[in-house]
Amino acid sequence: MAARRISSFLSRSSVSLSLLRSLGNNSSRGSGCIQRFSTATAFEQPITPPVQISYTQHLIDGKFVDAASGKTFPTYDPRTGEVIAHVAEGDAEDINRAVAAARKAFDEGPWPKMTAYERSRILLRFADLVDKHNDELAALETWDNGKPYEQAAKSEVPLLSRLFRYYAGWADKIHGLTVPADGNYHVQTLHEPIGVAGQIIPWNFPLIMFAWKVGPALACGNTIVLKTAEQTPLTALYAAKLFHEAGLPPGVLNVVSGYGPTAGAALASHMDVDKLAFTGSTDTGKIVLELAAKSNLKPVTLELGGKSPFIVCEDADIDKAVELAHFALFFNQGQCCCAGSRTFVHECVYEEFIEKSKARALRRVVGDPFKEGVEQGPQVDSEQFNKVLKYIRSGLESKATLECGGERFGSKGYFIQPTVFSNVQDDMLIAKDEIFGPVQSILKFKDVDEVIKRANATRYGLAAGVFTNNLNTANRLMRGLKAGTVWVNCFDVFDAAIPFGGYKMSGIGREKGIYSLNSYLQVKAVVTPLKNPAWL
Ligand code: ADP
Repeated sequence: MAARRISSFLSRSSVSLSLLRSLGNNSSRGSGCIQRFSTATAFEQPITPPVQISYTQHLIDGKFVDAASGKTFPTYDPRTGEVIAHVAEGDAEDINRAVAAARKAFDEGPWPKMTAYERSRILLRFADLVDKHNDELAALETWDNGKPYEQAAKSEVPLLSRLFRYYAGWADKIHGLTVPADGNYHVQTLHEPIGVAGQIIPWNFPLIMFAWKVGPALACGNTIVLKTAEQTPLTALYAAKLFHEAGLPPGVLNVVSGYGPTAGAALASHMDVDKLAFTGSTDTGKIVLELAAKSNLKPVTLELGGKSPFIVCEDADIDKAVELAHFALFFNQGQCCCAGSRTFVHECVYEEFIEKSKARALRRVVGDPFKEGVEQGPQVDSEQFNKVLKYIRSGLESKATLECGGERFGSKGYFIQPTVFSNVQDDMLIAKDEIFGPVQSILKFKDVDEVIKRANATRYGLAAGVFTNNLNTANRLMRGLKAGTVWVNCFDVFDAAIPFGGYKMSGIGREKGIYSLNSYLQVKAVVTPLKNPAWL
């Protein structure tokens, strides 16, 4: 019942919507004292993914090619830790080749010289192909990443095509201004593509990150070299192949697989890359910013980490608040840069909230992400798995109260029990660091001014959630919180038109919406005398 009501105010978010459809009824209380997670098929024979892996080479200049070195690296199934496929391992030489192809496609055309309407039609054809290949894309995403197949198929792949249709709409509406300058001059601005865009994406939403980066860059007429995350190289290659089927000229979108310090660093420091867009951790963001500065000073947009507060006020309907706070943290195995990972709860409702949050976590369905009804799959790889378990140990050591979970789930793959800590204090590591896993930290607060101060006492500023029926409280919080997004009575609403990005060390610039276009355009001022000047 409560989940159904929440889904109505989240109904604009395709990501949120189908997730909530699968969350089920949260109004009944869990058993409380028994540690019993809803299980699925994690430890039976893993379900065979309904897809073949067709593309493992780099896609450069419209062709699939091996790495220049001939090297490959493995990509793993997080359900079992077994190798799925060996993928071309990109290095500086592969980046050089991809940048040369993108440069040629930009300088010699036809892409930037094509009419914007024709570019828009290619983006639309691609979106249609994404819809047609929805199930294959979703299956590859689940296989490589571990996220629930239902989430990928019903929310994320549809969001991919939605994003490209949105940017197809922009392609022929990008234009400059006529400027009323002093003197006898006609002044106009031309909004031109910036050139070759280097794009580095992470592993938590490989297809959505592909869309956030590639959509605006192509709409503006740029060419691209995209480096995927080493954990999840498969879906971007498949999507880029579909783009060529849609009529994208060779060299416009080049995809190189490989590791960060080699392929990624080569892209960030390349002298012929005109702009860099990066999504990943704050620490790596600092590295790529430095590489960009030390090479050709290319402009950089960064979408980085977060430690987002989710604030439950005293007037909140507790059942709804519990469900939304649970979703805000546990969605995508907790692997979201904007996860609501500090759940601040008003002291009046704190005890009840904890009891119900624990019951909800115990009901969370963990298992093989290909199985229907599964809400939580494995973490992406052994490194993330171990990192999350380390933070859980830190929570125990710092004397936060473990309400449930706290251990791996099963004995195979990278599954972790949904974990809830209460009595979390601001100075504990689990309240300060980005855990990137299914670990909810619940903190108590007394009043709105206090919670604004505490919520802002972090180096991050990516997002925040507010849960209240009181308009005054909502207004105070939405204006007081230093974050790029404030979701009020909703969370993780990711429509194509909504800008996303961070304050403070959560990033530089904005992705999605109209705001993303600016970072893929140069503004040229053209000044012409209104009549022949004396010196002519
Ligand atoms: P995480 O720690 O979550 O894996 P990272 O920020 O390390 O996140 O990775 C995000 C992306 O950045 C990936 O594509 C990764 O390969 C890339 N990357 C990692 N290190 C570097 C680096 N030194 N230079 C450029 N890219 C990097």
